[in-house]
Amino acid sequence: MAKSLKNMETAVIHAGYNAKDHAGSLATPIYQTSTFIFDNAEQGERRFAGEEEGYIYSRLGNPTVRALEERMAELEDAEAALAFSSGMAAVSAVLLAMTKAEDHIICSQGVYGCTFSLLEWMEANHQISFELCAMETEEQIQQMIRPDTACIYVETPINPTMKLIDLEMVTQAASQHGIPVVVDNTFSSPYLQRPLTTGCDVVVHSATKYISGHGDVVAGIAAGSSKWINQIAQSTLKDIGGVISPFDAWLLLRGLKTLPIRMDRHCENAAYIAQQLKKHSLVQNVHYPGDQDHADYRIMKKQMKKGGGLISFELDGTKEQVQKFLNELSLIRIAVSLGDAETLIQHPATMTHSAVPEEMRSKMGITDQLIRLSVGLEAKQDIWQDLERALNAFQKG
Ligand SMILES: *Cc1c(COP(=O)(O)O)cnc(C)c1O
Repeated sequence: MAKSLKNMETAVIHAGYNAKDHAGSLATPIYQTSTFIFDNAEQGERRFAGEEEGYIYSRLGNPTVRALEERMAELEDAEAALAFSSGMAAVSAVLLAMTKAEDHIICSQGVYGCTFSLLEWMEANHQISFELCAMETEEQIQQMIRPDTACIYVETPINPTMKLIDLEMVTQAASQHGIPVVVDNTFSSPYLQRPLTTGCDVVVHSATKYISGHGDVVAGIAAGSSKWINQIAQSTLKDIGGVISPFDAWLLLRGLKTLPIRMDRHCENAAYIAQQLKKHSLVQNVHYPGDQDHADYRIMKKQMKKGGGLISFELDGTKEQVQKFLNELSLIRIAVSLGDAETLIQHPATMTHSAVPEEMRSKMGITDQLIRLSVGLEAKQDIWQDLERALNAFQKG
């Protein structure tokens, strides 16, 4: 039931779950079990042979997890989806399933810090090389494509600089060579951006962020064609084993129900805070894709519903002065992660991107002055009041 629900507001609540199959339970039950009992030995044989549908063992599948996977597939307009124990479990499972030794990956410049370290690790230990590409034009991508290019990995909006990459342009370049495109859709969630509808092949999420929305779970999602998802399920999910727990899947099902209303409020608050920051004399270079002056505003209008909940900006000061500004905040919490009800602030150069070599950081635009703000669901006036007070203290310092 609940396949092809047209409106996302309905799909986040109903897709992938039929109460009739679960004793009429309104909420999806948590199947907190490691294994499933076979009626007899022959049934066990049939299940392992793939001749009969049904559960075997929770690393291979679990009803609570399955409900989440079906809902996420629906939301991303995918044929299938898989849930993982973390966003990085999803990213690594997808990249390892798509590549073999001697392959080549083209990756957008300025990816999530641990994705960058994973690529470095794959290169050092598994002979899978990678190149970073700005992806501002189709030619830049075409020039990097080689016969051994196994996938193109894209993050947009880019963390933490908030630059955007035109997904239609990337798929145009890739499809001529039959190269799959993977998109990290964490910053937008399917409510704001659906990469598969522009021809991308696989979407990955840190579900820890907007999918959960409540800062109480670490989890990941991959969604795409049945071909890719089956391959990942049968290899890097099953055998490396980064599976999600039934309870964490349940938390995500619960969080998803309010995704559209949360995202609307995140976007409304972020648009307001971005405008206020832009007006402040001590703030420089406010990066918010929903701002008409943003360099990639045209791309935002093309592929995103709204500008999202993340802003980055720079303060004209030393690293120590920037840290003092963060310490002055009281409502806004200093923490990495994003997409939670609470407004969170962090300093990429010394936190999320500290593992990226300094030379690479400056190429990506991650200066010591850059600050990333994940605008929460509080009253926007309260969020601004906290920022303004800390800015005034920064001035005095
Ligand atoms: C957080 C994050 C990840 C990693 O996800 P985890 O759930 O922390 O493993 C990957 N990509 C992006 C864009 C992220 O923000």
